[in-house]
Amino acid sequence: MGHSLTLPKYSIGTGDRFAHQAKAQLSACLQAFQAGIEVIPVWNKSNREHTIIGSGPASTRAAADAAVQALGWKLPYFCDADHIGMATVDRFLPACDFYTIDVAEEIGKPAEESAVDAFIRRHPELLGEVRVEGIQEPLLITREFLEQVANKFLAAIQQAAAIYRKIEAAKGAGSFITEVSMDETDSPQTPAELLIILAAAADEKIPLQTIAPKFSGRFNKGVDYVGDVAQFEREFALDIAAIAYAVQHYGLPQNLKLSVHSGSDKFSIYAPIHRTLKKFNAGVHLKTAGTTWLEELIGLAEAGGDGLALAKEIYAQAFDHRQELCAPYATVIDIDPAKLPAPREVAQWSPEQYTSALRHDPRSPAYNSSFRQLLHVGFKIAAKMGNRYLDLLEANEPVVARNVKENLYARHIAPVFLGKGPEA
Ligand SMILES: [Zn+2]
Repeated sequence: MGHSLTLPKYSIGTGDRFAHQAKAQLSACLQAFQAGIEVIPVWNKSNREHTIIGSGPASTRAAADAAVQALGWKLPYFCDADHIGMATVDRFLPACDFYTIDVAEEIGKPAEESAVDAFIRRHPELLGEVRVEGIQEPLLITREFLEQVANKFLAAIQQAAAIYRKIEAAKGAGSFITEVSMDETDSPQTPAELLIILAAAADEKIPLQTIAPKFSGRFNKGVDYVGDVAQFEREFALDIAAIAYAVQHYGLPQNLKLSVHSGSDKFSIYAPIHRTLKKFNAGVHLKTAGTTWLEELIGLAEAGGDGLALAKEIYAQAFDHRQELCAPYATVIDIDPAKLPAPREVAQWSPEQYTSALRHDPRSPAYNSSFRQLLHVGFKIAAKMGNRYLDLLEANEPVVARNVKENLYARHIAPVFLGKGPEA
């Protein structure tokens, strides 16, 4: 297939909950291009987000196309059906050319014994010491371990293959990018597990271009990484080496790379990621989603007047509904209720007080991660406001867009892809 769609080496997933910031986001990629690096934008939105906002995949596509047209972007760009499954993929088929196939729920479901046996027979090379280029220590895989991992993941990979073939039947082979995600599960996958998973994906002939494992440590929404950074760096390197091995031995696409989900604001691991990519000459997909919505709030607050008033009202409502807003995200947020300011107090804040509490500047004493995380999950409130929210976004477009672009470029693209940033 000479004309297969290919995801370039560096790409960034950007979320645009209300479909108003595609241009600002693309201008961050344009700034990267001017700085000498090609970072390809991928607009991702999950079924859950569409449902909460009341939008559909066609609106994401329309916003992306319009931004590309307006800014004259000549490089590739994609629309990602984020975290889709068999039951949710259909509505994404017309508009999307990137599919994040989520099989986390199938992990641990027993596979057929004959399939496990066949897998082990097919892969004697995985038994014993597996030497991976660039890594001194070999990966050690016993027969017992291989059997255990096959049992844990084979059903999930079979499901991924079934979903892949459904998309392929609808859209045609080579006309879309395939990612498999396993991040929304309880335990992280080790590099040895990742290698076994990739062997299984190759057996199923899934033309994987990115894979999103669950890394160790906490990837909470919109805040920094919590965990052992040195251990993350070692695992990230091992994962890259496992991918290189799988590409070489199993015929997976040459551009197969890691996808880092919940990748926004993980400032403390950006320098390690950048170093490791350089060391292995590897690519990465950094997926961010919800932080653009927070930049919209920052822009409205900075604008003052009606914008600031609405930003305060959104916080007050989020505070009142904090239990129900947080419940679906319990495993990926970490809010200290004692640190949440009372809405009555926030009502008195200046634009500067609101933006400095919300903006993710870890060195600022005014930064409040609990305030930030509550607003992160509070986008439902703005969705319910409908045009009241959207009209103010439009009225304050310049200040909102400036914050969206600056956040994506300076705090994400520059440290990850250019190795430039306060933490690098
Ligand atoms: Zn994810």
